[in-house]
Amino acid sequence: MGKGGQSHGEIKDGEENMAAWLLGVNNLKIQPFTLPPLGPNDVRVRMKAVGICGSDVHFLKAMRLADFIVKEPMVLGHECAGIIEEVGSGVSTLVPGDRVALEPGISCWRCNLCIEGRYNLCPEMKFFATPPVHGSLANQVKQNCIFGESISWFVNVYVLWSIQD
Ligand SMILES: [Zn+2]
Ligand SMILES: [Zn+2]
Repeated sequence: MGKGGQSHGEIKDGEENMAAWLLGVNNLKIQPFTLPPLGPNDVRVRMKAVGICGSDVHFLKAMRLADFIVKEPMVLGHECAGIIEEVGSGVSTLVPGDRVALEPGISCWRCNLCIEGRYNLCPEMKFFATPPVHGSLANQVKQNCIFGESISWFVNVYVLWSIQD
């Protein structure tokens, strides 16, 4: 990432992906973040802007937020937007170059609430940068794309799921 949350320049294949890892109280380090290979419904997104959420700050200052305790190094970063770099073989709604905003809330997409579109109430809801799910403060992240639609910069596009299961 460059100044102001903007990243400059393309990330070449084989280039090491870096991320902001929370290692302890007030201890944040930029370290390699290896992404697993893409599955058929996954997309790889080059981050262009990442928000620092209040929860990120809580974790940085205390390594915990309510019942969520950081026990292992974790990548921070919540709300984010970027450009699709690669899509899995089963992804038909997004193509490399699409600009997307990523939903930081990760739901199951199988329960009735999710199917009705009220995924924010999903009992299995997880969030970026909430243990054990890594966040998005990285050059690139992997997401599982349940459904997606390319619209335009900063328009919410439903690109969903975790970085590393
Ligand atoms: Zn947030
Ligand atoms: Zn659900």
